[in-house]
Amino acid sequence: MKEHEVTDAKFDGKSANQSAKANLRICSRMEVIPGKDLEEKFAKMKSWGIEGAEVNVPLYGREDEIRMALANAGLVAAMTNFGVNPGNIISPNPEQRQLGIDSMKRKLEAAGRVGCAGMLYVPLFGAPKDGETNQSIRARLVDVLHPLAEFALEHKTCIVFEPLNRRESTFLCRVSDGAAICRDINSDGMKVMGDFYHMSIEETDMMGAFISGGKYLAHVHLAGGLSDPVRSIPGQNKSRYVEGFRGLKYIGYNAYCSFECGVRGDREIEIPKAITFLKREWELAVV
Ligand code: MG
Repeated sequence: MKEHEVTDAKFDGKSANQSAKANLRICSRMEVIPGKDLEEKFAKMKSWGIEGAEVNVPLYGREDEIRMALANAGLVAAMTNFGVNPGNIISPNPEQRQLGIDSMKRKLEAAGRVGCAGMLYVPLFGAPKDGETNQSIRARLVDVLHPLAEFALEHKTCIVFEPLNRRESTFLCRVSDGAAICRDINSDGMKVMGDFYHMSIEETDMMGAFISGGKYLAHVHLAGGLSDPVRSIPGQNKSRYVEGFRGLKYIGYNAYCSFECGVRGDREIEIPKAITFLKREWELAVV
């Protein structure tokens, strides 16, 4: 009886609620922001109150230039993307796998030199082929990613799974799936993100999805869900963010929420409007 009471007191909802630590930090991918070059885009972002940059541009040979441009603008290098590279770390072919490992190491080194907190990675686009299954891919992924996640940590960055909706990938669709694979990889260099667009198709509960990401959640993409127009900037469609933001607050989320969306109309007007809308949604998200 006593023991039960102690357990309840230790793990009650109030002690799990980390909302005092949570902050809404806006970030953006580069193609969303108007401007003729990165410098102009960074300056604009800063003037709108955006704090982080998702530098989804080629980094090789431009690491110092990009790092300096971010520092000059007063922005944080929140994230980069693995993108399309030679090889494939989950290939059953050892040569292809090694090529993929080498590609990922080069990209992680570049991410580290720019100062990016993480690098987004999608393990599989489409469905498994050639006799592969989700199970066989998962087993290989866990083996291959542990040393790569440790390598990422050495370079002061991390690898971040991006779950996609089932039309784009049948392997990794929900935040909780990504978090469970992170748990099995068992390295602080392995994280997961949540994309409001994909989540609107796959998740049953936005708050619950972010809570299940928990300590593994390292990034968020902002875009409207299936309402018209699809995947547009927050505020330009019927999608709301309050329920998801409740989850982010509950886990004390302090990383970035990044625009990955289309924008109708004048971006100089519509992006600041979206930021104001999101700040209101954040205020309404009480836990
Ligand atoms: Mg995304």
